[in-house]
Amino acid sequence: MQQHTGQHLLSAILDTMGLETLSWSMGSASEMNYLELPRKPSEEEISSIQAQCIQAIRDNHPITVETPGDVKADSLPSDYDKEKGVVRFVKIGDMDYNACCGTHMKQTAHISLILLHHTQSVRGTNCRLFFSCGNRAIGLANESINALRKIGVSMSSGFKPAEVQANVAKLGEAVAEGRRREKKLLAEVAKFEGDRIKAVLEVGRRGWCYRATDGLDFLNLVAFEIKDAVKEGVVVLTSGEEKKMGSIMIMGEPALVDALATKVKEVVSSVKGGGKGKWQGKVTEWKAGELEALRKAVEEE
Ligand SMILES: [Zn+2]
Repeated sequence: MQQHTGQHLLSAILDTMGLETLSWSMGSASEMNYLELPRKPSEEEISSIQAQCIQAIRDNHPITVETPGDVKADSLPSDYDKEKGVVRFVKIGDMDYNACCGTHMKQTAHISLILLHHTQSVRGTNCRLFFSCGNRAIGLANESINALRKIGVSMSSGFKPAEVQANVAKLGEAVAEGRRREKKLLAEVAKFEGDRIKAVLEVGRRGWCYRATDGLDFLNLVAFEIKDAVKEGVVVLTSGEEKKMGSIMIMGEPALVDALATKVKEVVSSVKGGGKGKWQGKVTEWKAGELEALRKAVEEE
């Protein structure tokens, strides 16, 4: 009831600012509600709306229900059947007068609190204004305070919102930097692996490359390194671990690629793949012994 009555009051305040309520959605217990407005309110408007909500609650306007007999049917909500039901109007002091058949609090002080949350743009220029009322608002505020505190503790920082925000931003930068370093290192490993395979191809015709992690990202890097050297001979590149998925790539002389693709299908039970010149396959799950059997088939047979 706090949410519903709070929505009446919030919409009444928004009306005075030329922000018509186009629709609304009441969230389930412990969720936020929202109103849809024709445009996004400015920061100043949001502050003003919030202040007016608090003031209207503090002023403790009476909320009354009226059932006038001479209501014109066309002023009613479209889903309201005047012939069957008694028309009820809900009045909040001098602030609002609206047809509604729902139940309401008796005075605005009983709403306790209307808390405005964030906004979200929808359908072009429309805007959803999220809010919560009463005990639910207090519950959501408590959850946020506790969550912020836990995040602060887990990052060994303070838990004032600005401190947590600054630390999360710093953490995000560190993660991005870590990814860049990892990408660079992987490219370096691929370069070494490429050089090793090139040396193998100089003395033989079959190269083998395996890396447990990094999947196709790594195989593609190695493939790039060896693309010229493999014009004579063939190389099988694999990734993944036993009981996990993986990738296989075969590149080189077309006849040798075809022959090894056939071998791969014999040895690896869950592989699916194809391609001319460069064969590529996906392993749903490496079964016990399959990786070693494939290595032997490439290197020793
Ligand atoms: Zn109502």
